Amino acid sequence: MPAHEPRPGLPLRIEPDGWLADGPGLLRRPSPNHDARPGDEAPYLLVIHNISLPPGIFTGDAIIDFFQNRLDFASHPWFENIRDLRVSAHFLIRRDGTIVQFVPTVLRAWHAGASSFEGRERCNDFSIGIELEGTDTLAYTDAQYGRLDALATAIRARHPIRAVRGHEHIAPGRKTDPGASFDWKRFEQGADGHETTHHRHHPGGR
Ligand SMILES: [Zn+2]
Repeated sequence: MPAHEPRPGLPLRIEPDGWLADGPGLLRRPSPNHDARPGDEAPYLLVIHNISLPPGIFTGDAIIDFFQNRLDFASHPWFENIRDLRVSAHFLIRRDGTIVQFVPTVLRAWHAGASSFEGRERCNDFSIGIELEGTDTLAYTDAQYGRLDALATAIRARHPIRAVRGHEHIAPGRKTDPGASFDWKRFEQGADGHETTHHRHHPGGR
């Protein structure tokens, strides 16, 4: 396998500065759509999202351009729907498992918008956002589950994460991602089928 291809089973590590240590299949594309966490609070919530631009299209770099405020909104009619939005997650996991990081985990990325978790508003203040390239209805890829597991493990080694939720759970009625296409049970069991105690906070049954 060429060195530049994603390696789903390869462990990942987050440096003290909040960036992933360099490795195969990892891209760093800094986004200006972030600021400091209030009080430099440690993030304790992981938020799973999906995105594809345009919806259902998985080619090209429109998501990266969008999070870097350099998307040509005239290049596709659908982009009018997101014109001039200033948003970014910390991470994007593409269909082939490539991980793109936009914002260091120690900083506040603008991914969740109006949201609430356990009665506390503004989840961006205390969360880390991971986008899966996809839609609410199309199954995510094996490569994405493998890399998500490795990424979540690396994040937990660096930050006191105690819960994982979908965007749909912290912004119900407003957001629907990652949708029914996200297999929470598979995520909780990890890439190698291990049952992890830290994934007990299942968002189902709410
Ligand atoms: Zn979302």
